[in-house]
Amino acid sequence: MTSPPQANGKAHHIAPLDASLLTIQRAETLKPIPEPGTYIFGSIKTDHMLIMTFDPIVGWSAPQIKPYGPLSLDPSSNCFQYCTNVFEGMKAILGPDGTPVLFRPEDNMRRLQSSAARMALPPFDEAALLACIKKLIMTEERWIPAPAGHSLYIRPTLIGTTPSIKVGASKHATLYALVTPVGPYFATATAGVSLLAVNEHVRSWPGGTGGFKLGLNYSPGFMPQQTAAALGYDQILWLIGENKLITEAGAMNFFAVVERDDGGLTIVTPPLDGTILPGIVRDSTLVLLRAHAADTSAKILNLPADKAVYVEERALSVNELAEWAKAGTLLECFGTGTAVLVVAIERIGDVVPDADGKVKKVRNIEMKAGKGLGPVGQAMWDKLLASKEGRDDFRGWAVRCE
Ligand SMILES: *Cc1c(COP(=O)(O)O)cnc(C)c1O
Repeated sequence: MTSPPQANGKAHHIAPLDASLLTIQRAETLKPIPEPGTYIFGSIKTDHMLIMTFDPIVGWSAPQIKPYGPLSLDPSSNCFQYCTNVFEGMKAILGPDGTPVLFRPEDNMRRLQSSAARMALPPFDEAALLACIKKLIMTEERWIPAPAGHSLYIRPTLIGTTPSIKVGASKHATLYALVTPVGPYFATATAGVSLLAVNEHVRSWPGGTGGFKLGLNYSPGFMPQQTAAALGYDQILWLIGENKLITEAGAMNFFAVVERDDGGLTIVTPPLDGTILPGIVRDSTLVLLRAHAADTSAKILNLPADKAVYVEERALSVNELAEWAKAGTLLECFGTGTAVLVVAIERIGDVVPDADGKVKKVRNIEMKAGKGLGPVGQAMWDKLLASKEGRDDFRGWAVRCE
């Protein structure tokens, strides 16, 4: 952290985030843990949370783990007025030996740092924050649900707290993390989710903030999401521009699998052009697919050995999906993200003008593999789950909390 010189010539010391200063104040009574299977995503409060504050003069406070409870903030706080809120989404599960494990958590810390920088919020020491989050998980270990498909979701959050309605960067901040036990994200996950393709409302655009996990990227999607739900679709397939280019599927990254003339499979996903969130599951999917493609005999993925795999990160239009579906070569589409890992997309409602160009109607794009995960989505699910659980130590992605 920079130390601007003071009038007396001495460097002014701004305290860095220091995990060795962490204190733990335990709750006097612990809450009963609800039965797995009864969870409503994101609503269960555990016993403790992690919290620390940043002051522009003194720097980071000592981090604290303390009983879960409300924050007290000035009503003029920058985050309430100008949405200086950034967050992360991670999961802890119990590894094969019962130790909690995280999946590529350093990547979440790096992404939180980049989101903070985009919102002109103060930087923090990534390793120190991760050390504190691990301590929180150890403190809340009894909340990690055992059943397959369940986990302890972790929500690190950084908010701007300068108490002034002046338009400008927040000099003060609060960084906290809460955890909440979760089951499978979509109740229908064994089948798949339906998407309504929308380009009337645009989620993210070139030069915008879609590449960061900022709270302000999500709320403008709530109203269109209600419209899609009223039409019978689970989520929105966000498009941009005349060419109806795909950006995201709800708050997930999007993949399409196409059958090639030569018998192989092409997996297409939109590129990281700033309109798309650089998902860690997206990256893991690409790493695994490319490793598999480079050496089919290594059997990295459980796919037929005679199916060559080709990966394309490129602009992808929903019109192409419609053409492939018509030609019978659109094998499957799936979404990726920490909340779902991999989820099948069972159909995509594409809004198309009628013959006379006036009336618009929704035409469904369906998948050759049917409603559930197709062969590639299933192979990804199996491999990613094994890596997450630390059963398969692919590139050391599973990180133990100790
Ligand atoms: C968090 C998020 C994702 C998925 O990112 P992961 O790191 O894979 O969990 C994808 N799209 C959006 C818009 C997101 O917010």
